[in-house]
Amino acid sequence: MHTYFRLLSYARPISKYAFPYLLLIILATIFNTLNIALLAPLLSTLFEEQQNLTAIKPDSWLDIMGWFDYLTLSANINFGAQKALKWTCLAILSSVLLSNIFKYFSQRIMENLRIQTLLNLRKTLFDHVMNMDMLYFNDQRKGNIIAKIASDVQVVQFSVTNTLQVLFKEPFQLIAYLFVLFAISFKLTLFSILVLPLSAWVISKIVRKLKAQAKEAQERFGMMISYLDEALSGIRIIKGFNATSRIKDRFHQENIQYSELGRKMAYRQQLGSPVSEFLGVLMVTILVLYGGNLVIQGQGDLSAAAFITYIAIFSQIMRPAKALTESFSMINTGLAAGERVLELIDEKPKHEELQGNIAVKELKDKIRFNQVSFAYQKELVLNNVSFDIERGKTVALVGPSGAGKSTLMDLIPKFIHPLSGEISFDGISFSNVSSESLRSIIGIVNQDSILFNDSIKNNIAFANPNASENQIMEAAKIANAHDFIMETENGYDTNIGDRGVKLSGGQKQRICIARAVLMNPPVLLLDEATSSLDAESEYLVQDALNKLMENRTSLIIAHRLSTIQKADLILVLDQGKVAEQGTHFELLFKEGIYSRLIDKQQFKKA
Ligand code: ADP
Repeated sequence: MHTYFRLLSYARPISKYAFPYLLLIILATIFNTLNIALLAPLLSTLFEEQQNLTAIKPDSWLDIMGWFDYLTLSANINFGAQKALKWTCLAILSSVLLSNIFKYFSQRIMENLRIQTLLNLRKTLFDHVMNMDMLYFNDQRKGNIIAKIASDVQVVQFSVTNTLQVLFKEPFQLIAYLFVLFAISFKLTLFSILVLPLSAWVISKIVRKLKAQAKEAQERFGMMISYLDEALSGIRIIKGFNATSRIKDRFHQENIQYSELGRKMAYRQQLGSPVSEFLGVLMVTILVLYGGNLVIQGQGDLSAAAFITYIAIFSQIMRPAKALTESFSMINTGLAAGERVLELIDEKPKHEELQGNIAVKELKDKIRFNQVSFAYQKELVLNNVSFDIERGKTVALVGPSGAGKSTLMDLIPKFIHPLSGEISFDGISFSNVSSESLRSIIGIVNQDSILFNDSIKNNIAFANPNASENQIMEAAKIANAHDFIMETENGYDTNIGDRGVKLSGGQKQRICIARAVLMNPPVLLLDEATSSLDAESEYLVQDALNKLMENRTSLIIAHRLSTIQKADLILVLDQGKVAEQGTHFELLFKEGIYSRLIDKQQFKKA
């Protein structure tokens, strides 16, 4: 129940919807019940002997059937049977019309509530995921997150609001019908509601298992989206390695299992309806037998018309009762999805306390690493690393793969936080510096050129959406990208496809560089591309990078000899430790790891 109310809180302010809905639904229910209850006077007008009748006013206003009888009889006596018939028909018609009008407007309110919940829930989820720290994504399946935001939320909103609708509406209807039934025959109704708990018990047996199944199905769906995502983003490799059939198999297996679960759930869900229908008819039959006997024997004061109306209303009573049981099965699916969604909302960023609130604007002196260690799991990936990145200087990180270079780089924009030791920015501890301000002065150019499926213009202006066309063009020129951009079909408006598939490796890199140029950050984090480009592309990229680095403070994961030679400080990392540090010549003289790396020609000669 707790989950249910938490989910409902996303429909805030609920009172805005609840009161008008309640009012409309009560009106709709009253008229809906009336139009069936009006059957009795209709039937008696048609079939009863009309001679020597006197209309008797009922004693209580609650005795509605008495009132109907009184009114139709008076009409009958005063205007004749035909006119009375017309009036009764008109009354039924207006009652149906009114009931449906109120029903429609109540439906609209419910739709608004549903959409409001969906909107809020999806927004909260997406914002939340965007605020999670980088390490969170390490352990998550992307597909699972996508499934939660895209599909679970949908299930939640449908089932939660449908249930709400049913819970608000159907009990009223049920009460209204019961009221009329009691008004027609107290004895008969008492007898019949004794049978109701039986059907409730049978239905609850059926729906109990649904929740666990629903949860499993939603998890499988997340898995399927994950496979889909991996298959689509890795399509080149999958085809290249002839792995298409294996990947297809994996997806289909998941698909089959998901469908199988869906089938089992549907079977169970569908079982509810015929079972309750059958139970309903069973009850009506018992009633016909019992009530029919009462009529035949002329016991009690049950007229034939009243009995037929009674049966008509009683068969209607099964509808709200059925809707209630169905909504119980639905709420189970909804709650399973709801739990998955809330699980994600409850996930807190691991290092919230390290967000910091001192805003930094520029680097005046240096970024200092003081005995910094870091571990993803147990093993130290960085071990007591100490060095300074001074303003305006270029620091190159070199070392074998897996040495911890990228990890060290990720510490600077506070994507991850040190396990021990301290990083400081102009003497301010990183734990006090606000991540946002820090990131606003850091430009990042990655190896894998991360671009979005958008126009070239918007990709360059990513960090600075208000940049003018001219500024974008200037940045592209500095990044040696302007010429090739002009040659594309729509120039700066050309769409580059998913992750930039329509561009070559070198072109993608130059767009990324243009993006950093436009952002004009005082501090640069660069990961030089290891992938080989053709000589001209290589030259253009290198030249663009050189221009980008001018007058900035940079930390580079270096793969080119020329970059390293120019660096003010080279940090040789080995198994998470700073094995050596100094300039190119200092390190060569040491004849340690660095000189061995150079000897082995680990670096590009460009
Ligand atoms: P480099 O950039 O020097 O090649 P990395 O910093 O990428 O090295 O990796 C250093 C070590 O940390 C490696 O052993 C790698 O397996 C591990 N590692 C890197 N990223 C993660 C991660 N997201 N989760 C767990 N371990 C990681």
